[in-house]
Amino acid sequence: MRYSQYGTTGKQVSAIGFGGMRFARPAAIDEMAEVVLHAYDRGINYFDTAPGYCDDHSEQIMGAALRQMRKRGSDLPIYTSSKSNKPTGDGLRRDLERTLRRLDVDSIDFYHCWYLLHPGELDARIAGGAIDAMIRAKEEGLIDHMTFSTHLPGDEIRKVIERDIFEGVLLGYSAANYRYREAGIAAASARSMGVVVMNSLGGGTIVENEETFGYLKVHEGQSMLDAALHFLLQEERIAVRLVGFRDMTDVDTAIDSVESFRPYSDEELASLISGADRTFDALCTGCMYCRVCPVDIAVWKFVETANLLYLSSGETVKDRLRYHWGVTIDQLDACISCGACERACTQQLPILERFEALKAAVRAE
Ligand code: SF4
Ligand code: SF4
Repeated sequence: MRYSQYGTTGKQVSAIGFGGMRFARPAAIDEMAEVVLHAYDRGINYFDTAPGYCDDHSEQIMGAALRQMRKRGSDLPIYTSSKSNKPTGDGLRRDLERTLRRLDVDSIDFYHCWYLLHPGELDARIAGGAIDAMIRAKEEGLIDHMTFSTHLPGDEIRKVIERDIFEGVLLGYSAANYRYREAGIAAASARSMGVVVMNSLGGGTIVENEETFGYLKVHEGQSMLDAALHFLLQEERIAVRLVGFRDMTDVDTAIDSVESFRPYSDEELASLISGADRTFDALCTGCMYCRVCPVDIAVWKFVETANLLYLSSGETVKDRLRYHWGVTIDQLDACISCGACERACTQQLPILERFEALKAAVRAE
């Protein structure tokens, strides 16, 4: 495993981190804790979780694993990361105390002001008391480092960073959307902040679309997973790349990929840049944060399907809607254009335009 400094905290974190949002069987707490332990035994030491992940079992799984890790007596330090999206001081404090109980720790290493999605949201958290509650918790030793997570565009991330409140940032970043977040990474780097990236594989989009993302393969023998992860490993401004692991096989595959990484030459980097001649931040990552529809449209099923309009695929829109997602295009007739899904979208996609493009594609098929 490779390690690097998390900003100026003095903490050496593993190049890939355990993203605790995709456990294969979340209700099987002890079985899933073994997956986390396996990752630790193979050198991962950054463990990310949050309330609500995996039917709200993720923090419990991490807690069960952490108890076992401490018994290992290993020299490898363990770093925990969790989050609160509560705007009020009381709400954040309740989240924090519950997380401390679930993880069975005295303090959280990296505690995130979670999910800054809209410009101005930080001000709402300040006004509500959440940031003051984080500062108090840090003074009490319950938080080691105040951090934030965000799906804002790069320029908006930069504005948050320039407020000098946080020591690190967790942001969505992959070979599919890196241009969209570059200004945020640059701002964090300029202030020596810790950078952790999530959605590292673009929600599976990159690995599944070799025809589009094949330019990422610059070394002999790289798989698409290697290519996507190596793309992030060559970016030294990033400390940790989160990967959502389902099981031990996922852990081993990702760690093997890290171990096969060789730094890119200048020519290889140039070929990567010239290969990225399309703007990939137009893709749905399948994160499902758009589950906010007042008329119960499963928005992500349609927008993910609209990726087909931008990627090479043998599948028709109609077939993907029907056989993969179990929906039909006429369900979009219920849409009242309220815009709630667009405001919630982590990729800030023009969802209503995608709906129209989908309808046109189905008519043409
Ligand atoms: S714009 Fe349409 S699909 Fe989106 S949340 Fe509103 S009603 Fe639902
Ligand atoms: S439409 Fe946006 S919020 Fe919904 S799944 Fe896709 S990327 Fe995520």
